[in-house]
This record gives sequence, structure tokens and C-alpha cells, in this order.
Amino acid sequence: MKLDILAFGVHPDDVELSCAGVLLVEKNNGKKTGIIDLTRGELGTRGTAETRRSEAAAAAEILGVATRENLEMADGFLQNDEAHQRKIIGAIRAYQPEIILCNAPEDRHPDHGRSSRLVAEAAFLSGLQKIQTDKNGKSQVAWRPKYVFQYIQDRFLQPDFVVDITNVFEQKIEAIKAYKTQFHGGAESVNEEPQTYISTPDFLDSVVYRHKWFGKMIGVKYAEGFISEKMIGINNFDAFIKENT
Ligand SMILES: [Zn+2]
Repeated sequence: MKLDILAFGVHPDDVELSCAGVLLVEKNNGKKTGIIDLTRGELGTRGTAETRRSEAAAAAEILGVATRENLEMADGFLQNDEAHQRKIIGAIRAYQPEIILCNAPEDRHPDHGRSSRLVAEAAFLSGLQKIQTDKNGKSQVAWRPKYVFQYIQDRFLQPDFVVDITNVFEQKIEAIKAYKTQFHGGAESVNEEPQTYISTPDFLDSVVYRHKWFGKMIGVKYAEGFISEKMIGINNFDAFIKENT
């Protein structure tokens, strides 16, 4: 299955918190989108790998992605090494995305930065023909996505560009809230579990403020921010938002 945009997150919910808006915008734009979670988030204080699996599936439904896969790497301990890169290369070659979205280059959770480098390096290596991989006994062809954008999640980082997600913002929040065990306002049964950094009402508020802040910078209500190591090229000035800022 060929995808236009493939979003990687090291933990199920990273994508929802950071770039689900863009996935919705692009889906509405007729593009085929998908998500790959690197781990099952099994070290999360609240909930279990099983609850996270069903929450991720519910969120995928809301986001209308064509596929969501889990590579079942070890939460907290995944490494940027050949074995892990080969798994990611296999996934990139299977879906042949034009654009990849991945974790922030540095963040509160150390898995985020490591996963970001792992995915970005694998995206480059995936284009090298002499690295051979196969799927279901068939050898895969080399594929390099045109862009790798890192999404901004917890710590503030200066974005290189931001995308207006105002029209899909409610849907994005719905997808975040699909993680009932993780965030405030979840199921009754989990409200007795220990409170964590992300389970307080303040955390969810901060997600909304972040998107409002990025939105304000371009004169819209809500936006998501991205970093690109590569120079971004556009065809013409029509893509620019023209608000008074
Ligand atoms: Zn995470």
C-alpha cells in the first residue's frame, strides 16, 4: 500500500498530541495517511499495553488513517542501531511515503529524541539500493521520502513552519481523548491510578495553548509546528496563509 504521509511515533499517542491535525488536513486534501508506533507504550504508568492498543485503534478510526502498525520495539530501551534501522527501513519501503513525520529532535522523554534520529537516519538509508530488505520473502525496492519533518510535542522548540489545523482541531482533541487511560477525563475505572505528568487537566490545557500559540503566529486559531533539516521548497505563494499578524 502506498501512502502519501507516514507519521512515526515512539509511543502510541505521540502522533495524536503533535501532528494529528496535519494528518486530518491532508486526509481531507485527498491524501493517504498512516501511522507507525515504534513501541506499545508498555512503560506508561497508567493503563497497560493492551489498553493502549485499543485506544490507538480508536484514535486511528477518528483520524481516518489507511493503516496503523506497531513495530513492538522496547519502550524506554529502543536504540538507534542497525537492527532497529532495518525494521524502520522495511516499513518505509513497504509504504513508500512522500513525507515522513517523526518525533521532536529533543524532548522531555528521552525516547523522543532517540526515535527522531532513528527514523530520520532510516529514512535516508532506505534510499540506498545496496541495503537489502525483504517482506514476505520478496525483496523490497529502495525508497527515500522527499521530506522528513519533526513534530513539536512537549518541550517548546522553535518551528521552521506551522500548519493551520483550525478546521480539524476538535477532531484532533477527540483523537487525543481516545487514550482514556492516559489523559484527564478518561474512564472512571482509571481515575484511581496514579496521577502523572500527562494525566492532569493542566497537561491537556497546555496542548491546547501550544496549538493556539502557533496559530496566533500565523493569524489562525490553531496550528501545529514542525522542524525540517532540509530546505523546504514551494511551487508558488498560494500556499501561504495571508492574515494580519
Ligand atoms: Zn511519547
